[in-house]
Amino acid sequence: MKTELLIGNEWRAAARRYCLVNPATEEPLAEVAEAGEAEIDAAVQAARACLESKQWRELPARKRGLLLFRLADLLEQRANEIAEVETRNNGKPLFESKIDVAMAIETFRYYAGWADKLTGDTLPVSGNFFTYTLREPVGVVAAIVPWNFPLNLATWKVAPALAAGCTVVLKPAHETPLTALMLGELAIEAGFPAGALNVVPGPGSTAGAALVRHPGVDKIAFTGSTEVGRWIMREAAGTLKRVTLELGGKSPNIVFADADLAAAVRGAQNGIFYGKGEVCAAGSRLLVEKAVHDQLIEELAERAKKLTPGDPFEKNTRLGAIVSRRQQETVLSYIEAGKKEGARLVAGGNPAKVNGKGYYVEATVFDAARPGMKIVDEEIFGPVLAVLTFENEAQGIELANRSMYGLAAGIWTKDIQKAVARAIKAGTVWVNTYNFYDPAAPFGGYKASGFGRDLGREALDNYTETKTVWVGL
Ligand code: NAD
Repeated sequence: MKTELLIGNEWRAAARRYCLVNPATEEPLAEVAEAGEAEIDAAVQAARACLESKQWRELPARKRGLLLFRLADLLEQRANEIAEVETRNNGKPLFESKIDVAMAIETFRYYAGWADKLTGDTLPVSGNFFTYTLREPVGVVAAIVPWNFPLNLATWKVAPALAAGCTVVLKPAHETPLTALMLGELAIEAGFPAGALNVVPGPGSTAGAALVRHPGVDKIAFTGSTEVGRWIMREAAGTLKRVTLELGGKSPNIVFADADLAAAVRGAQNGIFYGKGEVCAAGSRLLVEKAVHDQLIEELAERAKKLTPGDPFEKNTRLGAIVSRRQQETVLSYIEAGKKEGARLVAGGNPAKVNGKGYYVEATVFDAARPGMKIVDEEIFGPVLAVLTFENEAQGIELANRSMYGLAAGIWTKDIQKAVARAIKAGTVWVNTYNFYDPAAPFGGYKASGFGRDLGREALDNYTETKTVWVGL
């Protein structure tokens, strides 16, 4: 597969290359070109040249949509291969990578359909005027994405940006650039003009920072940690770039005593252990009403103990390898903190290996956790669940909202009258379900989880400017 930089539909060598490691086997996986400042500049210039070229600017919106449909078809043709590459690079079970690729395809089709439906308004202004608005592309978009859903999260930005008529420089996470490069390859094959989509792997502190500072970038669409999001927002002020930030989370999954407990236990398990817990919306704080606490903990601990880490390519594996040794160390340090701070470890808690290799961590559950503990207050981004107890609805809501984050939440209850969904400060609330996503459903955060929404009609607003036109009659 291609491992150079994709700039202006050409594969370009870079001054430096770096080695990727398969986190499940600890073996070298591929060597990839690393973009430096000069290459980032070239990619931005290619994106700008395309933006201003007739080939892109004058391309009828419906044809733009057609290119996106074609890209979706090409992704579909190579879906299995792409999923395998994602699993080798990220360590997630193959069945999860297949779900990721399926969603990437749907996301392109969803936004392909929007390309020729971005309409303005006619406005009832005072006076003798015909006044209307146009939706115009915001310009060159820098899409900066993390390593947990490398292809999927890239498409959440690339698809609406291209549909709106923007051009894109995509910087995948340093650890997981492979499926983004495959996406670039398919964009050429689909017939996108040179510069519409550029893909430039590289570290955040160099390649990412160069993109954020570049005066030729109009908008930054970022998904990643809250810490880096803050830095980007400050740095983007210098050139007044438009910014949307999808940041971290510490989402509460709230189980009321009247819930279908079997479903709630499955939901709690899926909420934290899907994606090895490397999921921004992971239900990492399980809040349980006291009356059902003991039963729930017992069932959950039993399930967690059975959820042993496995080879991501094995069909029954439900817990893959942590993305890198560094992330494994971070997760293990949180587990140590949980023990020290007095939470009760009821499942897991150890690193693991599969066939003697890999950066695995056991499915870990801490009971008797309290606000003020690191495992409750901070995002771990690993398979570690903190369980807290509450006495009544008001206390449950108060605990749920006691976090700087506000990305998502789950509620388990049979009582639809419980007006909890409105009381939770989060961008997504799942009721009697968890971790569902769809291209039509906006996703994003409240509070320190960021602002702006990926997906849905809303995401298109991130990639358009409104122009008001007054015609004197
Ligand atoms: P990260 O913030 O370290 O990196 C994210 C991306 O930003 C990577 O491409 C990285 O190279 C780049 N980057 C890092 N420093 C940069 C800088 N100074 N300038 C420009 N770019 C820079 O995050 P991560 O560790 O890759 O991912 C985990 C984080 O992402 C978690 O906090 C998680 O919650 C968050 N996340 C959020 C969502 C969401 O939709 N809200 C989705 C997935 C992940």
